[in-house]
Amino acid sequence: MELRDLKVLITGGSRGIGKATALAFANKGCDVAVNYLHSAAKAKEVVKEIENIGRRAIAVKADVSILQECERMVEQVIEAFGRIDVLVNNAGVFPKHFKITEITEEEWDWILSINLKGAFNVTKLVVPGMVKRRLGRIISVASIAGKSGGTVGVAYAASKAGLIGFTRALARELAPYGITVNAVAPGPVDTDFLTPEFKTKAAKLSPQGRIARPEEIAHAIIFLAENDHITGEVININGGRYVD
Ligand code: NAP
Repeated sequence: MELRDLKVLITGGSRGIGKATALAFANKGCDVAVNYLHSAAKAKEVVKEIENIGRRAIAVKADVSILQECERMVEQVIEAFGRIDVLVNNAGVFPKHFKITEITEEEWDWILSINLKGAFNVTKLVVPGMVKRRLGRIISVASIAGKSGGTVGVAYAASKAGLIGFTRALARELAPYGITVNAVAPGPVDTDFLTPEFKTKAAKLSPQGRIARPEEIAHAIIFLAENDHITGEVININGGRYVD
């Protein structure tokens, strides 16, 4: 599919992978809504960068774990752009504890409510418009941890494995309506998500001897958005660290 003039909503678009993805869609000729929660100034910078590319952009505050905030966000985006053609479920949080003996019920709920329920909340709100127009792309940012189990504990791995199951089930449900549903499963990526020490260790574990750049994840997301026939797919982007 030609991406030019499509309207894109990226959750967690203020930093890291979301920011790289927002700029990549703008460079393809799309208008982009940049969702954020805490990083208002950074989201506004992304908006400016997109405007400098020559496309329209808005920054929209919402906590993806709260359905009512997602409703307001989707209304704002539709008011600005008229519709949402592409949704990138990217917002996510990294665990504070890795061991099951240390993860509290609150931390479990916090991670699952953002990384998994957040995707459900926003997707549920954008799907009716996509079904009506018989056109849509839903792409979620899962993780290597959702496939391999990873090294950062059960809550994060369960949230990302959940996102992969969500993607596969929804792909089959929405295929008759011209909507594709896919995910990317990055290994460690060079963003603020990980500490410098974690990144150094992760690079040593990679057959390529390095971690990913955010632009490499954005590139795979664009590829999935452009393709009409790939659906239910989860693309590994990890330099060979995990292969399935
Ligand atoms: P990041 O630089 O820490 O950015 C996280 C983004 O998520 C920020 O824009 C943040 O917005 C947003 N966010 C967090 N909680 C939110 C909430 N409740 N509602 C709305 N937005 C929220 O991390 P990143 O590396 O780009 O990660 C993006 C995605 O990639 C995550 O889903 C992560 O699990 C996944 N991933 C990352 C890696 C990695 O190594 N970096 C590897 C695999 C998968 P504010 O700053 O505005 O609050």
